[in-house]
Amino acid sequence: MAGRDYSVVEDHLRELATEGESRLKAGASALDVVEYAVAEMETCGMYVAGKGSAPNTAGYVELDASIMDGASREAGAVAAIVGVVNPICVARGVLRATPHVMLAGQGALAFAMLEGFGLVENPDDYYVLPVGVYEHELYEQKHGTVGAAALDTAGGLAAATSTGGTLGKLEGRIGDSPLIGPGTWADDDIAVSFTGTGEHIIRSGGAISIAHKVAAGASAQVAIDEVLAEIERLGGDAGVIVVTRDGQIEMAYNSDGMKRAAVSASSPVHATTFE
Ligand code: ASP
Repeated sequence: MAGRDYSVVEDHLRELATEGESRLKAGASALDVVEYAVAEMETCGMYVAGKGSAPNTAGYVELDASIMDGASREAGAVAAIVGVVNPICVARGVLRATPHVMLAGQGALAFAMLEGFGLVENPDDYYVLPVGVYEHELYEQKHGTVGAAALDTAGGLAAATSTGGTLGKLEGRIGDSPLIGPGTWADDDIAVSFTGTGEHIIRSGGAISIAHKVAAGASAQVAIDEVLAEIERLGGDAGVIVVTRDGQIEMAYNSDGMKRAAVSASSPVHATTFE
């Protein structure tokens, strides 16, 4: 929310972007780097994802996450998963170790346990309020998500998204973030991660709509503007981060603000929130 102090978040995003850049320069894949960045944001508790997530109306935390590799089109996702520290790593596990794209609920947790992913020992003590959210706001219609998009030195693109969902969501509610297509998309040309009101993002097509418009010849900027306008027309607000195969970075939103950072071969790391 504008007017609150997000300098700690900007510092964290700057650090993550810097570390992500050095991993990419050292030859890491875009897929590894987006998983790394999103997992860090889940673990730290500063964002509405992982540790910073709020309970649903039934009183417990359910999380959504997805990840996609552009070159292979391999993807993994978890929806309404309970009790894991890093949903994005479980999503990557679904990509790597199953023939499926998405696991949900009990089955997702059973998979995470079988594969040895970190579990939340005591949920009552674990979850914290993310930076900029106060206790009395927990059941208002606020929302947040973390996402990352990257292009690696081999020309591979990847995107990842993770969220605690909208605050005050119903038990079992799943938004756009774990959906390959609306919330997360990567192909040979573009990597996209969305945040915003999930119901409207899903109904606009979201990330894949941007990819299709770009494939049809639109610039990334025009494609983003058109999809954000459609989300607004449907009554929602959203933000999106995009990386293209030629290294163009676009970050746009029609929500109040969007905490974000970017770095590329041609521009130094830059992190900001509401301007
Ligand atoms: N898109 C997320 C959801 O609807 C929330 C957000 O990005 O703020 O679950």
